[in-house]
Amino acid sequence: MTVGQAEDHGSALAFMSRGPEHRVAALTLAVLLFLGGLMGTANLFVDGMIRGGGPRWLYGTTMALCMLAAVLLAARRRATRPQTFALVLLGDLIYVVVALCVDDPLRYATPLMLLFASFVAAWFLGPWEFAVNLVVTPLAVLIAMWSSYDDPAGLAIQVVVNAGMLNAAALGVFVLRRRVERLLEATQALSVKDPLTGLYNRRYLVEQAPRIWRQARRDGTRVAAMVLDLDHFKRLNDAHGHAAGDAVLRAVSSALSAGVRPTDVLARTGGEELVVLGLVGDGAEAARLAERLRAAVAASRTEAGHAVTASIGVALTRPVDGENARDALWRLIDRADAAMYEAKQQGRDRVAALLVPHPAPPCPADADRPASDVA
Ligand code: GH3
Ligand code: MG
Ligand code: MG
Repeated sequence: MTVGQAEDHGSALAFMSRGPEHRVAALTLAVLLFLGGLMGTANLFVDGMIRGGGPRWLYGTTMALCMLAAVLLAARRRATRPQTFALVLLGDLIYVVVALCVDDPLRYATPLMLLFASFVAAWFLGPWEFAVNLVVTPLAVLIAMWSSYDDPAGLAIQVVVNAGMLNAAALGVFVLRRRVERLLEATQALSVKDPLTGLYNRRYLVEQAPRIWRQARRDGTRVAAMVLDLDHFKRLNDAHGHAAGDAVLRAVSSALSAGVRPTDVLARTGGEELVVLGLVGDGAEAARLAERLRAAVAASRTEAGHAVTASIGVALTRPVDGENARDALWRLIDRADAAMYEAKQQGRDRVAALLVPHPAPPCPADADRPASDVA
């Protein structure tokens, strides 16, 4: 498997693993928080529900805080993990404040109010923050119910039952989320990897083009594409069977994985065709890398001792502003492919570069001069 840009594939998981960074999730949380604050504020106007004096002020301030947090969240439309953790703790605090301020906590401050905070913690937060909330939940229930029970045993049972159910439900959500995450990761890996060799596939290669083109423009380097085609592979299949052919493909792939540079993208684009895409300073560097890969293929062996050689075509380009990276990638690969056929014609097991001028090169000199031209 090539070393690659795995972090680029984390984006789809960001919604779950790094808090509600997703706009919709943040807005949903904001709406729920605002509604909670609004409903809580309405209680201030229900006769005999909130105790008078200090508790009234504390209650009113907490509800205002709740709505302020909702407005801030709606304005930012995203929340980092620490901010989400703070929201969860705010949810716990709101429950405690409500319980301490209402006249009859058993009636008006049900521990179910903690469900929202527990689920948000379970779905969006990491194991540590989630664990903290598992501890905070029984503490919040204990404080909230303290004044309603004279009997310590009765109080303990209520805390254990209520906090236990809340935490059990939250644990269920947490486990479910981890499973969904793992499933997403596995699906994502499958969608960009070739199952036989473990190399990246064509789709991944194309996805990487914009990033590589951007980097080349930023660094002022060139993009090199190498197309590798195994020599007389059909003969090998015919002589030793497809299983032996598959084993050779795997051996070649691992030799190439070890040979490419960490930033190069190595992909299997067809049956016995592979592409290496990477940044190079000049044609000579690309030629050296291609030669190293050719030697790596020639030296690789399967356990049964089968071996193969490869013909490699190299092409270079210097990305220009406004260029469509995906289109430019295919133009570059087409040139490398033509060079590869040249290598076949010259006798195989060699590196070749096509001496074709690049259409409208942005820089004069040797911007697109192919490897062999420079080497
Ligand atoms: P050349 O040197 O001209 O490239 O000759 P070649 O035999 O490699 O070229 P050709 O295109 O005629 O044959 C390619 C062969 O690769 C045919 C196909 O059976 C084999 N092949 C393609 N994919 C796989 C695969 O996944 N496993 C195996 N075992 N063989 C494969
Ligand atoms: Mg082929
Ligand atoms: Mg071939």
